[in-house]
Amino acid sequence: KRFTQSSTWLLASTQTAANPMTRVPRNPNLAKLEAGYLFPEIAKRKSAYLEKHPTANIISLGIGDTTQPIPAHVAQKMAEKALALATPEGYSGYGPDLGDPELRKKISERLYGGKVDIEEIFVSDGAKCDIGRLQMMFGSGVDIAVQDPSYPVYVDSAVIVGQTGTKNGSFYENICYMTCLPENNFFPQLDKVARADIIFFCSPNNPTGAAATREQLEKLVQFAKKNGSIIVYDAAYAPFIRDENIPQSIFEVEGANEVALECNSFSKYAGFTGVRLGWIVCPKSLQFADGTFVHKDFRRIFTTCFNGASSIAQAGGLAVLDDEGMQQVRRLTDYYLENARILSHAMQNLGLRVFGGENSPYVWVQFPGRSSWEIFEELLEMAQLVTVPGSGFGPGGESFLRLSAFASREHCLEAKNRLESMFGK
Ligand code: PLP
Repeated sequence: KRFTQSSTWLLASTQTAANPMTRVPRNPNLAKLEAGYLFPEIAKRKSAYLEKHPTANIISLGIGDTTQPIPAHVAQKMAEKALALATPEGYSGYGPDLGDPELRKKISERLYGGKVDIEEIFVSDGAKCDIGRLQMMFGSGVDIAVQDPSYPVYVDSAVIVGQTGTKNGSFYENICYMTCLPENNFFPQLDKVARADIIFFCSPNNPTGAAATREQLEKLVQFAKKNGSIIVYDAAYAPFIRDENIPQSIFEVEGANEVALECNSFSKYAGFTGVRLGWIVCPKSLQFADGTFVHKDFRRIFTTCFNGASSIAQAGGLAVLDDEGMQQVRRLTDYYLENARILSHAMQNLGLRVFGGENSPYVWVQFPGRSSWEIFEELLEMAQLVTVPGSGFGPGGESFLRLSAFASREHCLEAKNRLESMFGK
């Protein structure tokens, strides 16, 4: 009952009320945002379908949330840490502000081959929160470029901190949309891209599943150097990379430490979407135009807006990065990659062009000339499959659908069967 009440209120809160009791002005940047965020809209359509067909057995290949359990070894270490907190010897309060030094050392050694200095690592509660804090640091005086399509948080956070104008059609003023389509192998044509202060770049990409090669990342770093830009490299899906020519980090590219920082996360490594643990690598050599070190300003923002990652989550992070943990999480990412392969093949068998799904948990399917929402509705109606309309990730996602492999094997196989029997030749 409580849920119903609060969801009714949530719906009502999307409209403005008639007689406000305060004289507090609304932040005008929030008024520039789109009314509905993508996932609530999908949930609304799914509920509407279920209301009409209460017995429907819907399979969700939609939201990119992990579904498989956290490896037992990792959960065990978190449980031990939680129990230790109940003892005088094991209790600890606020942690070191940038994270447990042992975890920062492990991240450096295990994920960056020791090439990143421990002091450059900020342990956090996840990549999304870090993107928000980075935007708070950059402030309203910069402009950004994003891959189009891309993870919506880059654009939304830019709007919230005041980096953009209003929305004209599908585009916000003052954002450079770097089109990523099959025609350019999902890598922006940099000689046609305008300069921006901050370039958000995600690889493997959400939603297209495209993973940039070493050569492409070298070009990106050169482009940032030429223009005096900073790259915010989002490597949240790096654990899915299997191809050796695809870097797991922007810092594998020579000179990237002068123009890039990297956000990363344990969410997709180890099923930590609910536990919450991530990190930022902010090189000590990265500077703003006036010579200030970005590290100094980010540290100021980080320690002002955040009080350190949970000690229990950090114990889990340490366990993810020991030998046993690394083996167990590899099995997890292998599992999702096999799901992606099943979904890719299912779509290819229908004669569709399919991208991603190889070094990424996302499968990106093209439906030329069709609207993304129309295909979304069709798959929901005909096969009871929930997917994500590509247009929700930016205008460049129109006519595509994103399928997420973060589902159970059983659901992926059932989705494949349904697609074959509904649409197969
Ligand atoms: N970056 C990208 C590209 C994502 O797709 C997501 C989550 O879906 C995140 C960051 C958020 O990660 P976290 O759970 O660490 O906040």
